[in-house]
Amino acid sequence: MNHQRIYNFAAGPSVLPLSALERAGSEITNYRGSGMSVMEMSHRSKAFLEIFQQTQNKLRRLMDIPEDYHILFLQTGASGQFSAIPLNLIGRTGRADYAVTGNFSSLACKEAAKYGQISLAADMGGNNYTRIPRQEELKLDPQASYFYYCANNTIYGTEWNYVPEAGSVPLVCDMSSDILSMPVDVSKFGLIYAGAQKNMAPAGLTVVIIKDGLAGHELPYTPLMMNYQTMIDKDSMYNTPPCWCIYMLGLTLDWVEENGGTAGMEKLKWQRANMLYQTLEGSRLFQLHADRDSRSGMNVTFRTGDEGLDAKFVQEATAAGFVNLKGHRKTGGMRASIYNAMPVEGVEKLCDFIRAFDKNN
Ligand SMILES: *Cc1c(COP(=O)(O)O)cnc(C)c1O
Repeated sequence: MNHQRIYNFAAGPSVLPLSALERAGSEITNYRGSGMSVMEMSHRSKAFLEIFQQTQNKLRRLMDIPEDYHILFLQTGASGQFSAIPLNLIGRTGRADYAVTGNFSSLACKEAAKYGQISLAADMGGNNYTRIPRQEELKLDPQASYFYYCANNTIYGTEWNYVPEAGSVPLVCDMSSDILSMPVDVSKFGLIYAGAQKNMAPAGLTVVIIKDGLAGHELPYTPLMMNYQTMIDKDSMYNTPPCWCIYMLGLTLDWVEENGGTAGMEKLKWQRANMLYQTLEGSRLFQLHADRDSRSGMNVTFRTGDEGLDAKFVQEATAAGFVNLKGHRKTGGMRASIYNAMPVEGVEKLCDFIRAFDKNN
Protein backbone atom coordinates (compact mmCIF):
# COMPACT_ATOMS: atom_id res chain seq x y z
CA MET A 1 0.00 0.00 0.00
CA ASN A 2 1.10 3.54 -0.74
CA HIS A 3 2.74 4.68 2.49
CA GLN A 4 1.33 8.19 2.13
CA ARG A 5 -2.22 6.90 2.52
CA ILE A 6 -3.74 7.00 5.99
CA TYR A 7 -6.53 4.84 7.37
CA ASN A 8 -9.70 6.77 6.69
CA PHE A 9 -12.69 5.59 8.73
CA ALA A 10 -15.05 8.27 7.37
CA ALA A 11 -18.75 7.43 7.06
CA GLY A 12 -19.01 9.03 3.63
CA PRO A 13 -17.57 10.17 1.37
CA SER A 14 -15.17 7.45 2.30
CA VAL A 15 -12.23 5.28 1.34
CA LEU A 16 -12.07 4.02 -2.26
CA PRO A 17 -9.94 1.15 -3.59
CA LEU A 18 -6.36 2.30 -4.16
CA SER A 19 -6.25 0.49 -7.51
CA ALA A 20 -9.31 2.45 -8.71
CA LEU A 21 -7.76 5.76 -7.67
CA GLU A 22 -4.44 4.89 -9.28
CA ARG A 23 -6.12 3.84 -12.50
CA ALA A 24 -8.10 7.08 -12.58
CA GLY A 25 -4.87 8.95 -11.89
CA SER A 26 -3.05 7.31 -14.76
CA GLU A 27 -5.91 8.16 -17.14
CA ILE A 28 -6.70 11.60 -15.82
CA THR A 29 -5.45 13.71 -18.72
CA ASN A 30 -5.77 11.18 -21.53
CA TYR A 31 -8.37 8.45 -21.27
CA ARG A 32 -7.08 5.50 -23.29
CA GLY A 33 -5.81 7.46 -26.23
CA SER A 34 -8.84 9.75 -26.53
CA GLY A 35 -6.63 12.76 -25.81
CA MET A 36 -8.96 13.99 -23.10
CA SER A 37 -10.05 13.29 -19.54
CA VAL A 38 -13.30 11.48 -18.80
CA MET A 39 -14.20 14.75 -17.04
CA GLU A 40 -14.02 16.57 -20.36
CA MET A 41 -15.97 14.13 -22.51
CA SER A 42 -19.40 14.53 -24.00
CA HIS A 43 -21.79 12.16 -22.32
CA ARG A 44 -22.94 11.23 -25.83
CA SER A 45 -19.44 10.36 -27.06
CA LYS A 46 -18.58 6.83 -28.07
CA ALA A 47 -15.88 6.60 -25.41
CA PHE A 48 -18.23 7.65 -22.63
CA LEU A 49 -21.17 5.56 -23.82
CA GLU A 50 -18.84 2.58 -23.64
CA ILE A 51 -17.87 3.44 -20.04
CA PHE A 52 -21.55 3.86 -19.17
CA GLN A 53 -22.59 0.55 -20.72
CA GLN A 54 -19.70 -1.38 -19.24
CA THR A 55 -20.34 0.02 -15.77
CA GLN A 56 -23.99 -1.00 -16.01
CA ASN A 57 -23.01 -4.46 -17.23
CA LYS A 58 -20.48 -4.93 -14.44
CA LEU A 59 -23.01 -3.93 -11.80
CA ARG A 60 -25.60 -6.27 -13.29
CA ARG A 61 -23.10 -9.11 -13.29
CA LEU A 62 -21.72 -8.51 -9.80
CA MET A 63 -25.12 -8.07 -8.14
CA ASP A 64 -26.72 -10.70 -10.36
CA ILE A 65 -29.47 -8.22 -11.30
CA PRO A 66 -32.20 -9.96 -13.34
CA GLU A 67 -32.96 -8.73 -16.86
CA ASP A 68 -36.34 -7.35 -15.85
CA TYR A 69 -34.72 -4.74 -13.60
CA HIS A 70 -33.53 -1.33 -14.81
CA ILE A 71 -30.32 0.21 -13.51
CA LEU A 72 -30.45 4.00 -13.26
CA PHE A 73 -27.55 6.38 -12.63
CA LEU A 74 -29.13 9.46 -11.07
CA GLN A 75 -28.25 12.57 -9.08
CA THR A 76 -29.69 14.48 -6.08
CA GLY A 77 -28.08 12.08 -3.62
CA ALA A 78 -29.64 9.26 -1.71
CA SER A 79 -31.83 11.89 -0.04
CA GLY A 80 -33.39 12.72 -3.40
CA GLN A 81 -34.88 9.24 -3.32
CA PHE A 82 -36.71 10.07 -0.08
CA SER A 83 -38.99 12.15 -2.36
CA ALA A 84 -38.70 10.23 -5.63
CA ILE A 85 -39.85 6.94 -4.10
CA PRO A 86 -43.24 8.14 -2.81
CA LEU A 87 -43.74 10.42 -5.82
CA ASN A 88 -43.34 7.47 -8.19
CA LEU A 89 -44.66 4.55 -6.18
CA ILE A 90 -47.28 5.62 -3.65
CA GLY A 91 -49.93 6.41 -6.25
CA ARG A 92 -51.01 2.79 -6.58
CA THR A 93 -52.91 2.71 -3.25
CA GLY A 94 -51.97 6.03 -1.63
CA ARG A 95 -50.43 4.16 1.30
CA ALA A 96 -46.98 2.91 2.25
CA ASP A 97 -45.26 1.17 5.18
CA TYR A 98 -42.00 2.46 6.65
CA ALA A 99 -39.70 0.72 9.10
CA VAL A 100 -37.91 3.51 10.97
CA THR A 101 -34.62 2.13 12.29
CA GLY A 102 -32.41 5.20 12.24
CA ASN A 103 -31.81 8.70 10.98
CA PHE A 104 -32.17 8.18 7.23
CA SER A 105 -35.30 6.02 7.34
CA SER A 106 -36.81 8.58 9.71
CA LEU A 107 -36.10 11.38 7.22
CA ALA A 108 -37.43 9.28 4.34
CA CYS A 109 -40.61 8.56 6.29
CA LYS A 110 -41.23 12.24 7.09
CA GLU A 111 -40.74 13.16 3.45
CA ALA A 112 -43.09 10.43 2.21
CA ALA A 113 -45.85 11.69 4.51
CA LYS A 114 -46.19 14.71 2.20
CA TYR A 115 -47.44 12.46 -0.57
CA GLY A 116 -49.58 9.78 0.99
CA GLN A 117 -50.69 7.91 4.07
CA ILE A 118 -47.71 6.41 5.85
CA SER A 119 -47.86 3.66 8.47
CA LEU A 120 -44.97 2.83 10.75
CA ALA A 121 -44.21 -0.84 10.25
CA ALA A 122 -41.70 -0.42 13.06
CA ASP A 123 -40.26 2.49 15.00
CA MET A 124 -37.07 1.69 16.88
CA GLY A 125 -36.50 5.25 18.12
CA GLY A 126 -37.67 4.31 21.62
CA ASN A 127 -34.60 2.08 21.91
CA ASN A 128 -32.35 4.85 20.60
CA TYR A 129 -31.99 2.77 17.46
CA THR A 130 -29.89 0.09 19.09
CA ARG A 131 -31.59 -2.76 17.27
CA ILE A 132 -33.39 -3.94 14.15
CA PRO A 133 -36.96 -5.26 14.49
CA ARG A 134 -37.59 -8.98 14.01
CA GLN A 135 -39.85 -10.07 11.17
CA GLU A 136 -42.70 -10.90 13.57
CA GLU A 137 -42.56 -7.40 15.06
CA LEU A 138 -43.29 -5.70 11.72
CA LYS A 139 -46.79 -4.28 11.36
CA LEU A 140 -47.57 -4.79 7.71
CA ASP A 141 -50.40 -3.32 5.66
CA PRO A 142 -51.30 -5.61 2.73
CA GLN A 143 -52.68 -2.52 0.94
CA ALA A 144 -49.40 -0.64 1.11
CA SER A 145 -47.97 0.45 -2.25
CA TYR A 146 -44.55 -0.56 -0.92
CA PHE A 147 -42.65 -1.46 2.24
CA TYR A 148 -39.63 0.77 2.88
CA TYR A 149 -36.57 0.05 5.00
CA CYS A 150 -32.92 1.01 5.27
CA ALA A 151 -30.60 -2.01 5.20
CA ASN A 152 -27.74 -0.45 7.15
CA ASN A 153 -28.08 2.44 9.58
CA THR A 154 -24.91 4.38 8.94
CA ILE A 155 -25.18 6.64 11.98
CA TYR A 156 -26.28 4.16 14.65
CA GLY A 157 -24.31 1.19 13.35
CA THR A 158 -27.09 -1.37 12.98
CA GLU A 159 -27.82 -3.56 9.98
CA TRP A 160 -30.67 -5.88 8.99
CA ASN A 161 -29.35 -9.44 8.96
CA TYR A 162 -32.37 -10.63 6.98
CA VAL A 163 -34.50 -9.42 4.08
CA PRO A 164 -37.97 -8.69 5.46
CA GLU A 165 -40.94 -10.51 3.99
CA ALA A 166 -43.86 -8.30 2.96
CA GLY A 167 -45.92 -10.72 0.87
CA SER A 168 -46.98 -9.19 -2.42
CA VAL A 169 -46.07 -5.66 -1.31
CA PRO A 170 -42.91 -4.52 -3.16
CA LEU A 171 -39.81 -4.07 -1.01
CA VAL A 172 -38.00 -0.75 -1.32
CA CYS A 173 -34.57 -0.60 0.27
CA ASP A 174 -31.99 2.09 0.98
CA MET A 175 -28.68 0.21 0.62
CA SER A 176 -26.51 3.34 0.56
CA SER A 177 -24.07 2.09 3.16
CA ASP A 178 -23.97 -1.66 2.54
CA ILE A 179 -24.55 -2.18 -1.17
CA LEU A 180 -21.97 -4.57 -2.68
CA SER A 181 -20.91 -5.76 0.80
CA MET A 182 -22.65 -9.13 0.37
CA PRO A 183 -24.65 -11.10 -2.17
CA VAL A 184 -28.28 -9.93 -2.31
CA ASP A 185 -31.21 -11.63 -4.02
CA VAL A 186 -32.33 -8.65 -6.09
CA SER A 187 -35.45 -10.50 -7.27
CA LYS A 188 -36.93 -10.10 -3.77
CA PHE A 189 -37.01 -6.32 -4.21
CA GLY A 190 -39.12 -3.83 -6.09
CA LEU A 191 -36.49 -1.12 -5.79
CA ILE A 192 -32.99 -0.83 -4.35
CA TYR A 193 -31.12 2.44 -4.20
CA ALA A 194 -27.82 3.71 -2.91
CA GLY A 195 -25.89 6.95 -2.80
CA ALA A 196 -22.48 6.11 -4.25
CA GLN A 197 -20.23 7.81 -1.71
CA LYS A 198 -20.14 5.01 0.88
CA ASN A 199 -19.22 1.85 -0.97
CA MET A 200 -19.02 2.70 -4.65
CA ALA A 201 -17.71 6.00 -5.99
CA PRO A 202 -17.33 9.71 -5.24
CA ALA A 203 -20.40 11.68 -4.13
CA GLY A 204 -22.77 12.81 -6.86
CA LEU A 205 -24.18 9.53 -8.14
CA THR A 206 -27.20 7.62 -6.88
CA VAL A 207 -27.79 4.13 -8.22
CA VAL A 208 -31.41 2.98 -8.50
CA ILE A 209 -32.30 -0.62 -9.39
CA ILE A 210 -35.99 -0.89 -10.18
CA LYS A 211 -38.15 -3.76 -11.31
CA ASP A 212 -39.79 -3.33 -14.67
CA GLY A 213 -43.43 -2.27 -14.39
CA LEU A 214 -43.11 -0.51 -11.04
CA ALA A 215 -42.49 2.91 -12.60
CA GLY A 216 -45.02 4.79 -14.69
CA HIS A 217 -47.61 5.46 -11.97
CA GLU A 218 -46.08 8.69 -10.65
CA LEU A 219 -48.12 11.44 -9.06
CA PRO A 220 -48.99 14.14 -11.63
CA TYR A 221 -46.78 16.79 -10.02
CA THR A 222 -43.67 14.59 -9.90
CA PRO A 223 -40.73 16.75 -10.98
CA LEU A 224 -39.39 15.78 -14.35
CA MET A 225 -35.97 14.93 -12.93
CA MET A 226 -37.51 12.59 -10.36
CA ASN A 227 -39.65 10.65 -12.79
CA TYR A 228 -38.34 7.08 -12.95
CA GLN A 229 -40.18 6.32 -16.19
CA THR A 230 -38.51 9.25 -17.94
CA MET A 231 -35.11 8.10 -16.73
CA ILE A 232 -35.84 4.51 -17.78
CA ASP A 233 -36.96 5.67 -21.24
CA LYS A 234 -33.84 7.85 -21.63
CA ASP A 235 -31.43 5.31 -20.07
CA SER A 236 -30.54 7.84 -17.32
CA MET A 237 -29.59 10.41 -19.96
CA TYR A 238 -32.55 12.74 -20.07
CA ASN A 239 -29.89 15.26 -19.08
CA THR A 240 -26.16 15.06 -18.38
CA PRO A 241 -25.52 12.18 -16.01
CA PRO A 242 -22.75 12.28 -13.35
CA CYS A 243 -20.15 11.06 -15.85
CA TRP A 244 -17.08 11.08 -13.64
CA CYS A 245 -18.78 9.19 -10.83
CA ILE A 246 -20.06 6.56 -13.25
CA TYR A 247 -16.51 6.08 -14.52
CA MET A 248 -15.20 5.78 -10.95
CA LEU A 249 -17.94 3.28 -10.12
CA GLY A 250 -16.73 1.17 -13.04
CA LEU A 251 -13.19 1.18 -11.62
CA THR A 252 -14.45 0.26 -8.15
CA LEU A 253 -16.45 -2.60 -9.65
CA ASP A 254 -13.30 -3.91 -11.36
CA TRP A 255 -11.69 -4.05 -7.91
CA VAL A 256 -14.73 -5.81 -6.42
CA GLU A 257 -14.60 -8.36 -9.21
CA GLU A 258 -10.86 -8.95 -8.72
CA ASN A 259 -11.48 -9.52 -5.02
CA GLY A 260 -14.07 -12.24 -5.24
CA GLY A 261 -17.22 -10.28 -6.08
CA THR A 262 -19.91 -9.72 -3.48
CA ALA A 263 -19.12 -13.05 -1.79
CA GLY A 264 -15.52 -11.92 -1.43
CA MET A 265 -16.72 -8.58 -0.07
CA GLU A 266 -18.91 -10.33 2.50
CA LYS A 267 -15.96 -12.36 3.77
CA LEU A 268 -13.82 -9.26 4.15
CA LYS A 269 -16.70 -7.38 5.74
CA TRP A 270 -17.09 -9.80 8.64
CA GLN A 271 -13.37 -10.38 8.94
CA ARG A 272 -12.94 -6.65 9.61
CA ALA A 273 -16.09 -6.19 11.68
CA ASN A 274 -15.70 -9.27 13.90
CA MET A 275 -12.13 -8.32 14.68
CA LEU A 276 -13.22 -4.86 15.77
CA TYR A 277 -16.26 -6.03 17.77
CA GLN A 278 -14.19 -8.66 19.57
CA THR A 279 -11.51 -6.13 20.45
CA LEU A 280 -14.10 -3.70 21.80
CA GLU A 281 -15.93 -6.42 23.73
CA GLY A 282 -12.66 -7.51 25.28
CA SER A 283 -11.84 -4.00 26.47
CA ARG A 284 -12.53 -2.47 29.90
CA LEU A 285 -13.28 1.01 28.60
CA PHE A 286 -15.49 0.68 25.57
CA GLN A 287 -19.21 -0.02 25.17
CA LEU A 288 -20.93 -0.90 21.92
CA HIS A 289 -24.04 0.97 20.80
CA ALA A 290 -25.77 -1.77 18.81
CA ASP A 291 -27.34 -4.96 20.18
CA ARG A 292 -25.38 -8.06 19.21
CA ASP A 293 -27.90 -9.41 16.64
CA SER A 294 -28.26 -6.02 14.98
CA ARG A 295 -24.62 -5.06 14.62
CA SER A 296 -23.52 -3.48 11.37
CA GLY A 297 -20.64 -4.93 9.40
CA MET A 298 -19.99 -1.48 7.94
CA ASN A 299 -20.25 1.10 10.73
CA VAL A 300 -19.06 0.14 14.21
CA THR A 301 -20.34 2.52 16.91
CA PHE A 302 -18.81 2.61 20.39
CA ARG A 303 -18.04 4.91 23.30
CA THR A 304 -16.36 5.03 26.69
CA GLY A 305 -19.26 6.77 28.43
CA ASP A 306 -16.98 9.69 29.25
CA GLU A 307 -17.00 12.49 26.65
CA GLY A 308 -13.56 13.71 27.64
CA LEU A 309 -12.10 10.25 27.19
CA ASP A 310 -13.91 9.84 23.84
CA ALA A 311 -12.34 13.09 22.65
CA LYS A 312 -8.93 11.91 23.83
CA PHE A 313 -9.39 8.66 21.93
CA VAL A 314 -10.30 10.45 18.71
CA GLN A 315 -7.43 12.89 19.07
CA GLU A 316 -4.80 10.23 19.76
CA ALA A 317 -6.16 7.97 17.02
CA THR A 318 -5.91 10.83 14.54
CA ALA A 319 -2.31 11.48 15.55
CA ALA A 320 -1.58 7.77 15.05
CA GLY A 321 -2.99 7.82 11.49
CA PHE A 322 -6.58 6.59 12.07
CA VAL A 323 -8.79 9.45 10.94
CA ASN A 324 -12.49 10.34 11.00
CA LEU A 325 -13.40 8.17 14.01
CA LYS A 326 -15.55 10.77 15.74
CA GLY A 327 -19.16 9.59 16.02
CA HIS A 328 -22.07 11.42 14.41
CA ARG A 329 -23.38 14.32 16.49
CA LYS A 330 -26.61 12.36 17.09
CA THR A 331 -24.84 9.51 18.87
CA GLY A 332 -21.61 11.03 20.16
CA GLY A 333 -18.80 8.60 20.95
CA MET A 334 -16.94 6.97 18.10
CA ARG A 335 -17.76 5.34 14.81
CA ALA A 336 -15.41 3.32 12.64
CA SER A 337 -16.79 3.03 9.11
CA ILE A 338 -15.16 0.00 7.54
CA TYR A 339 -16.49 -0.08 4.01
CA ASN A 340 -15.41 -2.51 1.28
CA ALA A 341 -12.25 -0.60 0.41
CA MET A 342 -10.92 -0.42 3.99
CA PRO A 343 -7.88 -2.74 4.05
CA VAL A 344 -8.02 -5.50 6.67
CA GLU A 345 -4.65 -4.34 8.01
CA GLY A 346 -6.18 -0.92 8.70
CA VAL A 347 -8.61 -2.60 11.12
CA GLU A 348 -5.86 -4.82 12.56
CA LYS A 349 -3.81 -1.75 13.38
CA LEU A 350 -6.82 0.10 14.75
CA CYS A 351 -7.46 -2.88 17.05
CA ASP A 352 -3.86 -2.69 18.30
CA PHE A 353 -4.39 1.00 18.97
CA ILE A 354 -7.66 0.31 20.84
CA ARG A 355 -5.99 -2.31 23.03
CA ALA A 356 -3.13 0.04 23.88
CA PHE A 357 -5.54 2.89 24.66
CA ASP A 358 -7.60 0.56 26.84
CA LYS A 359 -4.51 -0.43 28.81
CA ASN A 360 -3.19 3.10 29.25
CA ASN A 361 -6.38 4.87 30.35
C1 LIG B 1 -25.43 8.74 3.58
C2 LIG B 1 -26.75 8.11 3.56
C3 LIG B 1 -27.87 8.75 3.02
C4 LIG B 1 -27.82 10.16 2.50
O1 LIG B 1 -27.02 10.25 1.37
P1 LIG B 1 -26.92 11.59 0.52
O2 LIG B 1 -26.34 11.13 -0.77
O3 LIG B 1 -26.01 12.49 1.29
O4 LIG B 1 -28.27 12.17 0.37
C5 LIG B 1 -29.06 8.06 3.00
N1 LIG B 1 -29.16 6.82 3.48
C6 LIG B 1 -28.10 6.17 4.02
C7 LIG B 1 -28.27 4.78 4.55
C8 LIG B 1 -26.87 6.80 4.07
O5 LIG B 1 -25.82 6.16 4.61
